[in-house]
Amino acid sequence: MHIEGLAQDTLCIHASQEPDPTSGAVMTPIALASTFVQNGPGEHKGYDYSRAGNPTRTALEGCLLALEGGKHAVAFGSGCAATSSVLLSLKSGDHVLVGDDVYGGTFRIFDKVLKPWGLDATFLDMTDPVKVRQAIGPRTRLIWLETPSNPMLKIFDIAAIAEIARKANIPLAVDNTFATPMLQRPLDFGASLVVHSTTKYLNGHSDVVGGAVIASDDAMAERLHFLQKSLGAVPSPFDCYMVLRGLKTLGVRMKQHVHNARILAEVLARHPQVERVFYPGLTSHAGYAMAARQMKGPGGMISFDLKGGLAAAVAFLKATRIFACAESLGGVESLAEHPAIMTHASLPAEARKALGIGDGFIRLSVGIENVEDLKQDLERGFHAARNT
Ligand SMILES: *Cc1c(COP(=O)(O)O)cnc(C)c1O
Repeated sequence: MHIEGLAQDTLCIHASQEPDPTSGAVMTPIALASTFVQNGPGEHKGYDYSRAGNPTRTALEGCLLALEGGKHAVAFGSGCAATSSVLLSLKSGDHVLVGDDVYGGTFRIFDKVLKPWGLDATFLDMTDPVKVRQAIGPRTRLIWLETPSNPMLKIFDIAAIAEIARKANIPLAVDNTFATPMLQRPLDFGASLVVHSTTKYLNGHSDVVGGAVIASDDAMAERLHFLQKSLGAVPSPFDCYMVLRGLKTLGVRMKQHVHNARILAEVLARHPQVERVFYPGLTSHAGYAMAARQMKGPGGMISFDLKGGLAAAVAFLKATRIFACAESLGGVESLAEHPAIMTHASLPAEARKALGIGDGFIRLSVGIENVEDLKQDLERGFHAARNT
């Protein structure tokens, strides 16, 4: 199908998802084969071995690159595999500038896996792009950020940081897991790479672990394809099919996530038991104006500080019935979690404190249920927290 000029919600359903030419099947077939027949040595139809390439994976990669507006996409077995594959394109002695508020597992890759191999990283708050420019050193080979960040939902100026990176001849990688291409396309603002945990919104149903990198540049994509096949952290054909299936409804899902989150963020902001709310759609949020400029909607993630500390937070998380107490995010179902104990436990206590992740800090992944039910469920949590 000619996809030029088609809108994002159409691309979710049709990009790289042609009816199967042999049978006419409307849905992309799951190609489970590990190997592909060759007419003679080296004479094949584009596939020889499934680690190097697989038709279902190709379909998924095609859809992701269309959605992000990239030139190439490379799918991985998890978001962490995508992240580590990007980082393994660097060398020992290289230096990376990293946003200070990144996914706990991303921090762990830098700190516990690649630091011993000689990859150096500096974590910094990228709210002021000037600080990013000042932090670039002679060995800096990559800038890495997440926006909105996790779990503080800080907003970083992708265009300004991409411009600084371009002038310094350093690629900028943006983890776009929280926003998804429906709300934000980092390549349009000059980023070189977009990284996803497809486990989250892209698949959207909490039943796959997967990842991907989308690149704007041929040389970088070639290197990533090489690492995909060489390191072998590839997704199964079944998982690729599942993510493709989830992607079809990404457009409508994101609209409902944003709709519900906007309403709940207002409820939280007015609530007497809430100290502070972090949501880029609230005018009180430090990144409100920036989010309005680079995003089509403030997303479905909300963090807040509950009064009453740990006891209140634990009571809250045990009392809600629709918001399940679980890690992860981006599924159709609502989840609530305690970053200090759960997702961000791998961060040193001082780093958590510096970011503002205290004992009463709760992160919500707002699902697409009826918002009145969600409001009532939060009230159940507040009621329990009051009685601690
Ligand atoms: C979950 C997540 C990851 C890691 O992805 P996995 O699929 O769990 O390996 C990376 N970045 C962000 C922002 C995430 O939320």
